[in-house]
Amino acid sequence: MITAADEKLIAEASALLVRVHDASITRVAAAALGKSGAVHLGVSLRSPRVSVCAESTAVANAKAAGEESIETIVAVGLGEDGVPVVINPCGVCRELVPAVAPGVRVLVDDGGDVVAVGSPDLLPMPWKRARSYD
Ligand SMILES: [Zn+2]
Repeated sequence: MITAADEKLIAEASALLVRVHDASITRVAAAALGKSGAVHLGVSLRSPRVSVCAESTAVANAKAAGEESIETIVAVGLGEDGVPVVINPCGVCRELVPAVAPGVRVLVDDGGDVVAVGSPDLLPMPWKRARSYD
């Protein structure tokens, strides 16, 4: 179930994407709600050989701002009609975001409905080592 705060987060990511969308460089925007109540934004970046997801830049911005933890994160992309829609995180972000933001809620599209999920639902069988090398 999503809340009014979740809707506000989606609206902030959507407003950012409409402002900065560039099909060749920036296709996705993200917004992360910090424990402080501040919203930290991020955008995807791509070059011919490298791309960085919006979720990771939003988390990095939260960290850079001194945010203690992140409560909720969402990413949006432009639909065919040019209207931002909630999109689901890639595999890298499913691993990275909960690892750097334990307990985070991720807003995802579940067959047309936006729902909030935690890391066990986002990545039910996470990567693990055969043993510790530490
Ligand atoms: Zn990603």
